[in-house]
Amino acid sequence: MVEPLRRTELSDAHVHLQDDRFGSDWADIEKYLTRAREAGVVRFLCAGTSPADWNRVAEIARRFDGVLAAFGIHPWKARKVSGDWIPVLAKFLTSFVSKDGETRASLGEVGLDFAVRDLDETERREQERVFRAQLSLANSLGVPATIHSVRANELVLKILREYPKIPALLLHGWIATPNEIASAVETGAFFSFSARSVDPSATRGRATVATVPRDRILLESDGPRLLPPNGYAGAPIASPRVYLERKSADGFLLEEPAAILSTGREIAAIRKTPVEEFFAQLALNERRFFQAIPVKSKN
Ligand SMILES: [Zn+2]
Repeated sequence: MVEPLRRTELSDAHVHLQDDRFGSDWADIEKYLTRAREAGVVRFLCAGTSPADWNRVAEIARRFDGVLAAFGIHPWKARKVSGDWIPVLAKFLTSFVSKDGETRASLGEVGLDFAVRDLDETERREQERVFRAQLSLANSLGVPATIHSVRANELVLKILREYPKIPALLLHGWIATPNEIASAVETGAFFSFSARSVDPSATRGRATVATVPRDRILLESDGPRLLPPNGYAGAPIASPRVYLERKSADGFLLEEPAAILSTGREIAAIRKTPVEEFFAQLALNERRFFQAIPVKSKN
């Protein structure tokens, strides 16, 4: 069968390499990155989740080839964040440079999640306040933003339209209705999908994957997400998963960057697109998205 990825360089558009489930030693992270590169995955957008992990994200992106840094406060952590974090985030976004000496940071992962436990008015308000403060920074600094949106699509889309100077938006792991997708497309957003979105049990995820425009799709692992060995609803996993490592006693699988290869094949199947054609389109999409991340000026 086709081996389309020998010449292709793929990007994992959303991963949390700083999470200690990837291991606490540099050698552990190197192991996952090496396996990813062997599978053709050479670029990794490593997303922060709170001020507590920004230094670790920065260190990883300064140390390993192909790792780009995103700094932001995840909606799950919005309520807990305290102190004067905005200037700290601004500093990470403006002064950080990746190992290549060129690539600056972007914003992520930020957003709204109204599926959290104990959702009340305070939680909603805090999430929105922290989300807006971060978008406002990205808007004034001209950096792309990675967005998490769960049960809040309409509000997220409304808010995103208020910050039109953000040069690229990535709606990661998004599940949406056709109307919401149409509205997101108008903002110019990209959409990245992981194995979870294409799992045989993920009816709404697969419908979203089938509906978004072909020139807006990216792949992500969202590692270190753990996948149930038999899918989320006990349905068998359809596509072969490369390099997924058995991680826990109950057989859960760590979704690592190399896994985006099988996710990409599954997306091609869902969209009834030849695999080679899908990956060629993907390469163009990646180029457009990653070009929006600023580079260090030469002078
Ligand atoms: Zn994530």
